[in-house]
Amino acid sequence: MKRFAELLDALLFTPSRNGKLRLMQEYFATTPDPERGWALAALTGELSFAEAKPSQVRDLAMARVDPELFGWSWDFVGDLAETVALIWPEPEMQDQSAVPSLSEIVSTLQGASRADVGAHLAPWLDALDATGRWALLKLVTGALRIGVSARLAKTALAEAREQRCTACYVLLRPQKWNEIKAAGEVMTCDSCGRILFYDPSHEPPPPEPDKKRAKKAKATPEAEVPSESVIVTIPPVPGALLNGVQRASLKEFLYSRM
Ligand SMILES: [Zn+2]
Repeated sequence: MKRFAELLDALLFTPSRNGKLRLMQEYFATTPDPERGWALAALTGELSFAEAKPSQVRDLAMARVDPELFGWSWDFVGDLAETVALIWPEPEMQDQSAVPSLSEIVSTLQGASRADVGAHLAPWLDALDATGRWALLKLVTGALRIGVSARLAKTALAEAREQRCTACYVLLRPQKWNEIKAAGEVMTCDSCGRILFYDPSHEPPPPEPDKKRAKKAKATPEAEVPSESVIVTIPPVPGALLNGVQRASLKEFLYSRM
C-alpha cells in the first residue's frame, strides 16, 4: 500500500501526461502480482467497495479527535480524505507490519459488512503515514481522482491482442498468450517490458461467410437453400475463441439460413 500511496501522490503532483505514464510504467514494472493487478483496477476505476461510505470515515475520525476541531478542519481543507489523513493522531510507534497491502485491503473490505468497515480501517490508519492514510481513504470511498483517465492508465500498459503485444508487435509465446487469456492475469511483455492486459471483446470477429454463397442465398428464396450450405458457411473459428455475443450472432446467422 505504501508504494501505491506514493504512486498516487506522485501522479497527483505530476501534471504532464508523459510524466504520469513514466510513473505508472515504473510502478507496474517493479510491483509484484497481485498487487499491481489491484492497482490497475483502482487506477482505471474498476475497484469499488460498496460497503465503505464517507460517513463511516467521518465517524471514525470524530471518535479519535475532538469533533469540533474536526469540523473546522474539514471546513478549511474541504476534502474528507485529506482532512482525516492530516488530523488522524499518529501512534507513538507505527507498527510497520500492520501496514496493509492493496491485496489485503481488497480482500478484507470486499468481504466486510457495512458495520465492520470502520473496525478494519482504524488499525490500517494507525499503521500508515499521512500519504498512506490519504490514499487508503481515497481508495475505499471511491474518490480516487488523481488526473489519470482509464485510457491513460492503460497506455502505460499494452494490450495483448491476437497473440501480440500491441505496443512492440512482438509475438507472444503460446504459453504466455494462453495464460493471459485464461487467467486475465497481469504479465509483462518480454520485449518492451510493458504490462500486458487482455480484453476478450477485442478478439477478431469470426471471418465473413463466403461472399458468393451469401449472394446466392440472398437471391434464392430462403426455403430453397439446400441444407448443406448451412454446414459449409460455419466460420472456421474454434468454439473457444467465440465470446457470447459472437456466438449469439453466429447462431442467428445460421438460423436465418435454415
Ligand atoms: Zn511489447
